[in-house]
Amino acid sequence: MTEQTTDILIIGGGPAGSTTALYLSQLGFDITIIEKKKFPRETLCGEFLSKEVTDILKELNIFNEFLSLKPNKLNSFRAVDETGIELKSDLNFDAYAMKRSVFDLFLLDKAKERKVRVIQPAEVITITRTNSEFISEIIDDSSNKFNVISKLVIAAYGKQNILDKKLERDFINKKSYLNGVKIHLPIEFLKDSFNDEIRIYTDDELYCGMNQVNDKEMTVCFLENRKKSKIPSRERLIDVIKSNKNFQKIFKTNALDYIKSTNIYGTGNIFFGKREVIENGIIMIGDAARVISPLAGDGIGMAMESAKLLYSLLIKHNINQSEQLFSDYKKQYEKLFSKRLKTAKIIQSIILNRSIRNIGIRFANKYPALLPYLIKLTRNLKTA
Ligand SMILES: Cc1cc2nc3c(=O)[nH]c(=O)nc-3n(C[C@H](O)[C@H](O)[C@H](O)COP(=O)(O)OP(=O)(O)OC[C@H]3O[C@@H](n4cnc5c(N)ncnc54)[C@H](O)[C@@H]3O)c2cc1C
Repeated sequence: MTEQTTDILIIGGGPAGSTTALYLSQLGFDITIIEKKKFPRETLCGEFLSKEVTDILKELNIFNEFLSLKPNKLNSFRAVDETGIELKSDLNFDAYAMKRSVFDLFLLDKAKERKVRVIQPAEVITITRTNSEFISEIIDDSSNKFNVISKLVIAAYGKQNILDKKLERDFINKKSYLNGVKIHLPIEFLKDSFNDEIRIYTDDELYCGMNQVNDKEMTVCFLENRKKSKIPSRERLIDVIKSNKNFQKIFKTNALDYIKSTNIYGTGNIFFGKREVIENGIIMIGDAARVISPLAGDGIGMAMESAKLLYSLLIKHNINQSEQLFSDYKKQYEKLFSKRLKTAKIIQSIILNRSIRNIGIRFANKYPALLPYLIKLTRNLKTA
């Protein structure tokens, strides 16, 4: 089998992997990203880009190029429950929406421009740790296998992966029954296109986020507890649009025919609980480290911030499997994200439970200062 060597191997070219490569390339390392899919590719996501994202794009000096791709600017937030009660708030921070196919390709291209080697499409299938290095076995789209030898492996492969099983991670057999689905809907199928607002609609054991991602399309993304529901996701979305009077106010009837045949991106059984951020000397970043409730719209921000955290540690630590690096990463990760993760998880369980949600929404409606406060708790707005 052929062999390549690199200082740092990054598994996955999503926001976490590309951002890590962009940061670490500044330290002069030889970096290789292995990405399973051909880009551009779509993926499950509400496609809301929070201030944490734009802060990092600015820090990496790529914000103006990002703006030239014409992301849709968002200024306000509205939650609408199934009884019609509405909560509104200004976001009070910079936020955008952009299709993941466009955003992820942009970041990966920027990494390539900064001399990061990207091997794509190719999949890491096994990782073996020795005393001094890692040997990762990779298979490309022509079924050729090769090894990459590296001093460090960074896993940025997303929320669930066959490698989790191979690494015997604690959560692999846990069932959440939480299922996410995304579609892109042309705005001509909407009665009301609210282009500068992100909206959350609720229904039984489900919430749905909507924001416009460019001048033509709206992202419709929902998360549902499927413990009781066995209906396929597409049919469930159609049922909800038909039966929920608030959805009926915004979707034209011909939207349903469009949804019946359009591409749908989904993932089942998403695990939002705690995971180890170091597994057998492999550093987990982005969703591989921890998945935040999508309600907070902060997964991409956290993926990019975990990349920045690792960069700050690699300025002072050796990359040769340093135990001090691992323990600092664990500590700093907890410090940076644990409050946000807990708050988002609690709000998500309230929103998914009809009776608690009804009380919560009425309470928040009575005390308008509560919503901006909760939004702030789910993110890192120190610099706002
Ligand atoms: C329903 C839902 C809605 C969401 N909405 C939002 C939102 O509006 N805003 C927001 O900020 N976040 C949102 N998120 C979260 C966001 O999608 C993730 O946090 C983000 O994609 C994490 O980025 P990542 O790079 O860690 O992983 P990913 O984006 O999943 O990227 C991982 C990459 O690794 C590749 N890969 C996987 N396995 C291998 C392998 N073995 N070898 C090589 N490559 C591999 C994959 O092909 C993929 O490209 C949402 C999540 C869900 C579930």
